[in-house]
Amino acid sequence: MNNLKRFVSKRGLALVLSSLLLFSACASTKKIALPPHPINVGFDCDDTLLFSTPAFEIATESGAEEYSDAWWSIVNSSDEGNSIIKKETQKIVEKHQKRGDKLIVITARSNNGGGILKNYLNKTFGINQEDVYFTHRKAAKIRELDIKIFYGDSDSDIEEAIKAGARGIRILRSPKSSYKSKYNPGKYKEEIIPNSEY
Ligand SMILES: [Mg+2]
Repeated sequence: MNNLKRFVSKRGLALVLSSLLLFSACASTKKIALPPHPINVGFDCDDTLLFSTPAFEIATESGAEEYSDAWWSIVNSSDEGNSIIKKETQKIVEKHQKRGDKLIVITARSNNGGGILKNYLNKTFGINQEDVYFTHRKAAKIRELDIKIFYGDSDSDIEEAIKAGARGIRILRSPKSSYKSKYNPGKYKEEIIPNSEY
């Protein structure tokens, strides 16, 4: 009888210990579970890859009419030296690159002066210029390009990802961003990257 008790308690202790180990391993993997094979991964640009409020401010201060071709052209030429690379997103970009995932950017910016933005994103994140798309219809692009995970700060990014059958993951927006609308992290019970504001 005593032997049996000892056996049960040893087994019990081993079970508790292994559960604890498993739990701590899960807790430390930052929750982004990824398949073993490479996938296509998409990123929004503004407030996701870049804190780009300064580029938008430069365009507005130029006196160009907001959202005109000239205004967009200034925005797209002003990231270098003004926009700030978001640290947490950069780590995510690097993690996907190491896995061999294909990185794609889908931005709702207009493509006036878009070549300069493509060049900057290439230099900064190593994203191929031909993998940067300018469109408001993100869901269609996500589906067309077979993107499995789409990172974005706006509710619409997450919504478009879900619509396209992809996983939408939220990057937090800096409180200093001039863009304030469509921002309700957790609205879709989506995964959220902690400390990703800056
Ligand atoms: Mg954005």
